[in-house]
Amino acid sequence: MSYSKPTFKDVYGNFINGKFIAPLGGQYFENTSPIDSSLIAKYPRSQKEDIDMALDAANAAKDAWGNTSVTERAAMLNKVADIIEQNLEEFALVETCDNGKPIRETLNADIPLSVDHWRYFAACIRAEEGSATELDAHTLSMNIKEPLGVVGQIIPWNFPMLMLSWKLPPALATGNCVVLKPAEQTPSSATLLMEKIAAVFPPGVINVVHGFGPEAGKPLASSSKVDKVAFTGETTTGQLIMQYASKNLNPVTMELGGKSPNLFFESVMDQDDAYLDKAIEGAVMFAFNQGEVCTSPSRILVQESIYDAFMERVVARTKAIVQDNPYDVQTMIGAQSSVDQYNKIQSYIAIGKEEGAKVLCGGAANTQADLAKGFYILPTILEGHNKMRVFQEEIFGPVVCVTKFKDEAEALEIANDTLYGLGAGVWTRDAHQLYQIPRAIKAGRVWVNCYHAYPAHAPFGGYKKSGFGRENHLMMMGHYRQTKNMLISYDKNKLGFF
Ligand code: NAD
Repeated sequence: MSYSKPTFKDVYGNFINGKFIAPLGGQYFENTSPIDSSLIAKYPRSQKEDIDMALDAANAAKDAWGNTSVTERAAMLNKVADIIEQNLEEFALVETCDNGKPIRETLNADIPLSVDHWRYFAACIRAEEGSATELDAHTLSMNIKEPLGVVGQIIPWNFPMLMLSWKLPPALATGNCVVLKPAEQTPSSATLLMEKIAAVFPPGVINVVHGFGPEAGKPLASSSKVDKVAFTGETTTGQLIMQYASKNLNPVTMELGGKSPNLFFESVMDQDDAYLDKAIEGAVMFAFNQGEVCTSPSRILVQESIYDAFMERVVARTKAIVQDNPYDVQTMIGAQSSVDQYNKIQSYIAIGKEEGAKVLCGGAANTQADLAKGFYILPTILEGHNKMRVFQEEIFGPVVCVTKFKDEAEALEIANDTLYGLGAGVWTRDAHQLYQIPRAIKAGRVWVNCYHAYPAHAPFGGYKKSGFGRENHLMMMGHYRQTKNMLISYDKNKLGFF
C-alpha cells in the first residue's frame, strides 16, 4: 500500500495571539519535500519584529494563563491529544512529506508517541502533591511552584511533531505561555497543529513563529521578553543560544548532539536465536530514521572474540533494509531531511574513506532511478578505529562506525572516549555486565538489550557536550517553574528582634 503527497495551501502564516498572520516584513521562504524536491508551501521568513509581536502576545496572556486551574490546563492538553489522534493519518503524511521519513514510522511511532506526551503531562500536573512542613508548633514552611512566565522554545527538524510534543506540554501544563520556533526545514506539522487546535487555548498562550536561526531564533533566545529558553539542536548552536540567553540571565535547557556507542559483548552470540536476532537488529538501529536521531547508535563496539561472526550477520541485515519511497508502507528508511544534510553525510563518508576506514556496506547515495529527485543515502557501515573523525563527529545520517574491543575495560574506554554523552546501548546476557557496564558509561540514557525507546515517563537528556536538563518524565516540570517559599507564622508572640 502506498500513500501520496498531501495537499497544502500555497502560503502559511505565523500563529500569533490565536490567529494566523503574515510576517510583518512580507518575506517568505519556500519549503520543499526531500522525497522528490517538490514545493510544499511558502512559510514566513520571520524577523525580530515578528518575534516581538509573538512575545508581546504571550506576555499579555501569561498572568491569566498562570492562574488557570490545573484541571482546566490538563483538560486542554488532553483535548490536543484527542485532536492529534483523530487526525493521525493527516499528521503522519504531512510529517513524512516534510521530513522524508517513512510513513510506517510516522503512523506508528512519531505521531502516537506525540499524543502520549500531551496526555502524560496532563496527568502529571494533576497528580502532584504539595509540600508544607511544620518548622515548629507555630511556623509552617510552604513551597509554592509558580510558572516562569513566557518560554522561548527552538526545535530541530528530525522529529518535528515529537520535539514539539516534548516541549509544549510540560511548559503549558506548568502554566507558562510559549513562543515556539520550528526548524525551517520542517515547518508543516507545527502549522497543521495550530490550525487544528487554534480554539483550544486562550489567545497568546501558544504562538508559533517560522524562520531561520539567525533571523528568528536569535531574537527569540536573546529577548528580554522571555523568562526561559529551551533548545534542541546542534551543540554549536546550543553554545550560541546560551550566550544569547545569558544577557538576560535566563535559564536554559539544552538537548544537543551525540555520538552514541552500542556495545555487543561475547554472550550475545551463544544465546538462543531470538535473542541473537534482537541483538543484530539492535546493531542495525543506526539506520532508523535515516540516522537522523540525536541518540543514533552511530558507533558499534563488538568484542573481538565474536567480531567476525557477529558483523557478518549485521552487514547482511543492513543490506536487507528496504530504502524506498517514504509514502510506501513497506519502506523502512526514506530520504535525508534536506540537500544540506545529504551533502554533509556524503562528505563524511569521503572523509572516512580518506582516513582509511573500510566500507563494509553502502558508502554512497542510493541511485535507484525513482528516487533520483530526492536525497537518499544507502545505510553504510565503516570499519575503523575510535580516533578517526567519523567516530568522533556527529554525522547525523545512516552511517555507523564499527570497531572491536578485547575486554570490559577497553569497551568502556572506547565508549567514553567522546565529547558527547547522550545515549548508549549495551547488549549482554552476563548479569555482572548488565548492570556494571551501563553504570560506567557516561551518558544520560543507556538502553540495555534494547534501543530507541522513548517513553514519556523516562527522563531523557545529555551528559558532557550533549547538553543538560532533562526532557520527559515529571522531573521536566521542574525546568519550567520557580519555587516560592512561604514561611507562615501562627505565633501570637512578637518576633523578638527589636
Ligand atoms: P540546528 O542547531 O542547526 O537547528 C536547531 C534549531 O535551532 C532550528 O530551529 C534552527 O533554526 C535554530 N537555530 C539555528 N541557528 C540558530 C541561532 N544562531 N540562533 C537561534 N536559533 C538557531 O540543529 P538541526 O540541524 O536542526 O538538528 C540536528 C541536531 O539536533 C543534531 O545535532 C541532533 O543531535 C540534535 N538533536 C538533539 C536532540 C536531543 O534531545 N538531545 C533531539 C533531536 C536533535
